[in-house]
Amino acid sequence: LVQVRDVHKSFDQLEVLKGIDLDIMPGEVVVILGPSGSGKSTFLRCINHLEAINKGFIAVDGEQIGYRLRNGRLEKLSANGIARQRRKIGMVFQQFNLYPHMTVLQNIIEAPVGIHGESRQDATRNALQLLERVGLSEKAGSYPRQLSGGQQQRVAIARALAIKPKLMLFDEPTSALDPELVGEVLATMRDLAKQGLTMIVVTHEIGFAREAADRVVFMDDGKIVEMGRPDDVIGNPQHPRTKAFLSRFL
Ligand code: ATP
Ligand code: MG
Repeated sequence: LVQVRDVHKSFDQLEVLKGIDLDIMPGEVVVILGPSGSGKSTFLRCINHLEAINKGFIAVDGEQIGYRLRNGRLEKLSANGIARQRRKIGMVFQQFNLYPHMTVLQNIIEAPVGIHGESRQDATRNALQLLERVGLSEKAGSYPRQLSGGQQQRVAIARALAIKPKLMLFDEPTSALDPELVGEVLATMRDLAKQGLTMIVVTHEIGFAREAADRVVFMDDGKIVEMGRPDDVIGNPQHPRTKAFLSRFL
């Protein structure tokens, strides 16, 4: 579903991604671990075309991100074209950024109705199903400030799912939460993983990586230094950088 080839990304003189290669199968759950500043968020933002890459290519669902093929030639996509590609990709950030003046239900149907032209009725029906999926059926009429952080993040997940993405990106979705609220969000993500959603998750939750990931990727200094099954990468890391990083969690 996702192909990443030799992706490089620099901010001015600073090279942040130094040749990333990664293939992700439909239904696969990939957890990215790595120290602060290693380029994890930048990588996710490149997949979603929130950042343009300098070299290499990224394809999602058979389409090269940011480009289209026309008369046998690649050309840069317009803003509209990029928006259309982004519909395939849901993203959940550390900060939930729900609209404070809208109810939970309004937050979820905003993109499907406002941007993608779905009927309010269909979008509402879908939103109510999504709220059930994240365990918040009774909160449809609440405002974000009436919810706990964990509940708000689960609404943010439902909102990202409302555009029916083929791929979900999570960037440290639990790191802004109080410790006692982390579990409920991880449980929701575990359910989604079991239901076959393709997910790329940046997290420091090693337990989640062990249980839910099909594959763990360890990034350091803009490169993938180690990748494999969770039991191997976490249980028996080979690279000194991976060992050093994981030793902090013991
Ligand atoms: P963390 O675990 O702290 O979230 P990260 O692995 O997600 O770290 P990134 O946020 O991808 O790391 O940042 C990688 C590097 O790129 C850092 O050195 C950061 O300062 C730099 N960087 C990120 N975004 C920008 C930007 N918009 N402009 C300039 N430099 C940036
Ligand atoms: Mg980050």
